[in-house]
Amino acid sequence: MKRAIKEEIANMGKRLYERRLNGGYGGNISVKDDEVIYITPSGLPKDILQYSDIIVMDFKGNVLEGTGKPSSEMLFHILIYKTREDVNAIIHSHPPLATGFAIAGKEIPPGIHEESTIVLGKVPVLPYEVTSSKELAKNVSDALSKSNAALLANHGAITVGDTLETAFRRMEELENLCEMILVAQSIGKVNKIPQEKLEALLELIRKRTKKS
Ligand code: 13P
Ligand code: ZN
Repeated sequence: MKRAIKEEIANMGKRLYERRLNGGYGGNISVKDDEVIYITPSGLPKDILQYSDIIVMDFKGNVLEGTGKPSSEMLFHILIYKTREDVNAIIHSHPPLATGFAIAGKEIPPGIHEESTIVLGKVPVLPYEVTSSKELAKNVSDALSKSNAALLANHGAITVGDTLETAFRRMEELENLCEMILVAQSIGKVNKIPQEKLEALLELIRKRTKKS
């Protein structure tokens, strides 16, 4: 199996921690490559992972390489890859501000901030389901069939991407956006981009995505 992918995942654990997008024992990271899934082991802090800790498994969750147990959330990782052909990387983490929004049950509509609208689109909040459950996996993969980011009530956040870097940038943007909303709320009100201009922006995004 590919050492470079394992190193990228272990390094991502550190990046998420250093950027305060994850902490403690929370979160999990995976990458799909050549019909196998590289995933973080269960129960270890993600900022101290070594490349050799990363597990390789098949789409049924059978371990092909590695000594630990795959993430307890492997069900939703597998289901997302089965639902979204274009997704090659998934990050689940517990970023403090975004998770605060998830606890408050506040979904994040597009149109609050230009860059976030382009990078994230709509961010739904999914109802609370117990960690590792089939119900959680089903809700997450349904929501992410139409979205690139979601909040999990009383739990955390998930982002996906064609690369691990894209999934990371989406998580970073999500946490930034939550901070921007909190600042706007504390000093005034959250003004949205006017509807007509938002439609023009969404049209621009559609055109750009078609070209690439
Ligand atoms: P794992 O360490 O088993 O991946 O669990 C962390 C987590 O965040 C569960 O939702
Ligand atoms: Zn979690």
